[in-house]
Amino acid sequence: MARGGSRYGAGRPGRHVKAEHCRRIDARRWQREGMLQPGRCGGWVWTDVDTGKQTASIGYSTEPGAVVLNYRLNDQPIRQWLPILTTPCHFGGQRQWFACPRCARSVAVLFLRANGFVCRQCNRIAYGSQSDDALDRIWRKQRKIEGRLGEYWQRPKGMHQTTYAKLMATIIDCEERRDAALVAAFERLFPGRTIGDLLG
Ligand SMILES: [Zn+2]
Repeated sequence: MARGGSRYGAGRPGRHVKAEHCRRIDARRWQREGMLQPGRCGGWVWTDVDTGKQTASIGYSTEPGAVVLNYRLNDQPIRQWLPILTTPCHFGGQRQWFACPRCARSVAVLFLRANGFVCRQCNRIAYGSQSDDALDRIWRKQRKIEGRLGEYWQRPKGMHQTTYAKLMATIIDCEERRDAALVAAFERLFPGRTIGDLLG
């Protein structure tokens, strides 16, 4: 359950690991699987735990110090460049981390949102404000739209392209409005500082 996906390609037979609705990649797992070594390429697959059907996949290739992700999100091809950071382990060797594309913190896990991967903190900033009614309403609106779409915001069979484009634009707008509201709240509390300072 919920193991986050499986690797394929890279010259070895792929394994098919079932996962729940995990929109996440984990640098520790990728390092263990040898996916973060320079010059590697292949893919990562998420599978629906109930149906066994592939729900999403991303391609990756590694460069010195970075991994490049290739995937389709709301019917658009995305190419996302993620720096890989390394820290020494206590008992020798190195640990590898992703740099969050939004706040630049080094993290093990990144979550896929409707406009790319972000770290847990950035994800929580956008999603976790249960106490704020306005943000909650925006979140509920988004969930309702997401209920009409397939996994990973895919367009269901039979849905018109323009309907789909409108729904996706609304979802991205919801995410951006939550982000903007929280950044504004932060700046009122801590004038002259950025939200990156808080997360660092
Ligand atoms: Zn972040």
